[in-house]
Order: sequence, then C-alpha cells, then structure tokens
Amino acid sequence: MSATDQGGEGVTDGGAMSEGVGDDSTQSSMRAYSTDEITVEWRAERCIHSGNCARSLPRVFNPRRRPWVDVSAAEADAIESAVRRCPSGALAFVRHGGTPSEGR
Ligand code: SF4
Repeated sequence: MSATDQGGEGVTDGGAMSEGVGDDSTQSSMRAYSTDEITVEWRAERCIHSGNCARSLPRVFNPRRRPWVDVSAAEADAIESAVRRCPSGALAFVRHGGTPSEGR
C-alpha cells in the first residue's frame, strides 16, 4: 500500500479565490450586512445579476464597490423595499429593533 503522495506537497486545492468561502454551516456563499435596524443577506449562488437591487437603491447596492452592499447608506425601509425587488431570492432581510422606543 502506498500511503504517501508523490512530491509530498502541492496537492492541496485549498485557497479560495479571494474572500472566505467555506462556512461550516452551509456551502453557499451567503453574506450578511447589518446595521442596528436591518440585516441584509445575500446569497451569491442565487443571484442572477438582474440589477434590480442596484437600480432600486444604488447607494446601498453597488457591484463596483466592496463591500458591494452598504446597508448604512439608506434607511431600513428603503433597503427593505429594494430587497423585495430581488427576483431570484438572493437577497433577504431581517428587521431589528422590534421593540418600540419607550421614552425613558
Ligand atoms: S436584485 Fe437580486 S438577483 Fe438581481 S442583482 Fe440584486 S441580488 Fe442579484
């Protein structure tokens, strides 16, 4: 039985392209962008690049920028509206701060 590889090194295919790929939960490259009011989740594998998000809210969704999603660039309501226009389901959102501000 040969238990050793030839060369000894250089067989590893590790090393994702640039940014972290490989969460222990799922293999999908989901990224989340959040503020105190809203979290936007984006699943690259579902994105069909329709551009709806960028057209709807270019300040937040700008593919030319990194990160391409800046949830701090607009109000949560506007972001929510833009996310809902995503035809593929690549974008999702979660609203935060459900507790109303009870005047202290
Ligand atoms: S709207 Fe959805 S499918 Fe279209 S580019 Fe944006 S994230 Fe991708």
